[in-house]
Amino acid sequence: MRLRNIPGADEAILNSEYCIKEPESKKGNWQSVFSSTQPLHIEIGMGKGRFIMDMAAAHPDINYLGIERYSSVLLRALQKMEETPMPNLRFICMDAADVTEVFAKDEVSRIYLNFSDPWPKDRHAKRRLTSRQFFARYDAILKPDGRLEFKTDNQDLFTFSLEEIPEAGWHLDASTRDLHHDSVLNEGNIMTEYEEKFSSKGNPICKLIASR
Ligand code: SAM
Repeated sequence: MRLRNIPGADEAILNSEYCIKEPESKKGNWQSVFSSTQPLHIEIGMGKGRFIMDMAAAHPDINYLGIERYSSVLLRALQKMEETPMPNLRFICMDAADVTEVFAKDEVSRIYLNFSDPWPKDRHAKRRLTSRQFFARYDAILKPDGRLEFKTDNQDLFTFSLEEIPEAGWHLDASTRDLHHDSVLNEGNIMTEYEEKFSSKGNPICKLIASR
């Protein structure tokens, strides 16, 4: 994602009730930031937040946390939340490499990764959000019956992710390299900003579901 430094983004985030400050202090106690106790689903690398906001609206019986590294990107989602607040959705501005400092064992029921940065150079493979190093972090926070869902239009990243799943000791539950023509996996699909952009250019969308 191309970044612009948006003046005031850090301050806006600090002042927003929808962005959780010092997220490590909520470790093991995330339900306290929501009005109802219900399963917790997180999206890592949420970008401007269209997917997680649509999910939160469609599933009021789930609590959602959107994680985004850059305040300038997260700002867009915060602005939308100010217009249409949702009790089951909050945001965190952080690097996902630190998820084990922020979530306790078994605290998360589902992890969404959408159009994650590909980090194409081999020497950067461990930065990919579907690398075995990241799966080890997810191991530490995901419930035993939890799952991870990943979408991308990047064929190389998808192939890499399929290979990392068994290396990490996880199972592949389902996958497709053409989500929008897969009647089973596409049912109830909610598009992300990048999914809309790349599928409109004719790129097929890949999706996998993995569990432990
Ligand atoms: N998920 C959105 C979508 O599908 O439209 C945005 C996709 S964009 C290519 C990837 C996003 O993930 C960027 O906003 C980037 O800042 C964020 N991101 C990448 N690595 C991250 C990390 N380690 N921790 C948190 N966010 C990250």
